[in-house]
Amino acid sequence: MTAVAVRVPAKVNVQLAVGPARPDGFHDLANVFLAVGLYDEVTATRADSLRITCSGPDADKVPLDRTNLAARAAELLAARYGLVPDVHLHIAKDIPVAGGMAGGSADGAAALVACDALWGTGASRAELLDICAELGSDVPFSLVGGAALGTGRGEKLTPLEVGGTFHWVFAAADGGLSTPAVYREFDRLTRGAAAPSASPALLAALRSGDPFELAPVLTNDLQGAALSLRPSLTETLAVGTAGGALASLVSGSGPTTAFLAEDEASARKLADALTASGTCRTARVATSPAPGATIVTG
Ligand code: ATP
Repeated sequence: MTAVAVRVPAKVNVQLAVGPARPDGFHDLANVFLAVGLYDEVTATRADSLRITCSGPDADKVPLDRTNLAARAAELLAARYGLVPDVHLHIAKDIPVAGGMAGGSADGAAALVACDALWGTGASRAELLDICAELGSDVPFSLVGGAALGTGRGEKLTPLEVGGTFHWVFAAADGGLSTPAVYREFDRLTRGAAAPSASPALLAALRSGDPFELAPVLTNDLQGAALSLRPSLTETLAVGTAGGALASLVSGSGPTTAFLAEDEASARKLADALTASGTCRTARVATSPAPGATIVTG
């Protein structure tokens, strides 16, 4: 095999309940992830040394050194199997960078699956999930996709049932927000729920597949912190609500904002209204759930 391409989705947090900071600095979370159909594609090809390249509108914001999660994924897999990680990883990036949609995590999961196939290491699903958890809290979910409840730091996953297709609009903002900075602001503003847990109403709404049931139970405990660091997002949220969104919220740690729409036509209208408002960089429609990291060629 000379090249393997893997497609991997972005995520939105439909519930992000955050506990107080733990002694190790992490926060206990009840994190309900939903994979959405905005995709990066990572292609692994044999090379003389580890090399990362990236294309797409946000490519200049992606680190091309060993801090890139795709590079770290290749190194961790190679180390486990006593291999040298000589691979060229090309990232075709469509997920907003530093947007709270887990784009870097997605590339880590995709690179892992691509290298496993390219090198014929044949790692088990459990091993791949283990490496993902080592790479970061959101990486295991990028591997599995669909919908899942993440507990602990968010990395212990329980798959969830979704009863239908949800239609979303995602508005990308100019510039990113650093996830650690948003957690620091969260700590400054609040103590966090003592024992964060998944909302039964939210899980029932996902099972129903009904956007009218889902809209009122969407929550993000990081929203206050993200808005405090980036007050202009309030305007984007207001435009979405005025444009007919059933719910408007910050996606994860932001600054991407997420809008739940009634159907595909409403989502398109809403995306046009958001783009025309000038309160965001771009607005994209996407549906959920979406499958996790999947080999598309190889
Ligand atoms: P999350 O939702 O998981 O908090 P995010 O979507 O807000 O993450 P990312 O796009 O994952 O943010 O990028 C966060 C930072 O990670 C970037 O600013 C960049 O420095 C670094 N990074 C490492 N690898 C990648 C990658 N493959 N793609 C994008 N950013 C990466």
